[in-house]
Amino acid sequence: MYSPAELARLVNDETRALAQDLDTETDPDNPYQFLCEDGCGAKVVLTLAAYIAANGAWLDGHKPA
Ligand SMILES: [Zn+2]
Repeated sequence: MYSPAELARLVNDETRALAQDLDTETDPDNPYQFLCEDGCGAKVVLTLAAYIAANGAWLDGHKPA
């Protein structure tokens, strides 16, 4: 079984791969819905470029130190 945080990471990575296949990586008007990677289940809307730059998706204050 995956932990909620691991599952969020897997889902986000699939979203990233799909977005890159669709070649919308650099389009700022085309955000995707990611899952907060601390496993809280919240949705985080980011462009693909922002997701890659942050190396993940977290709500403000949710990213582990
Ligand atoms: Zn969170």
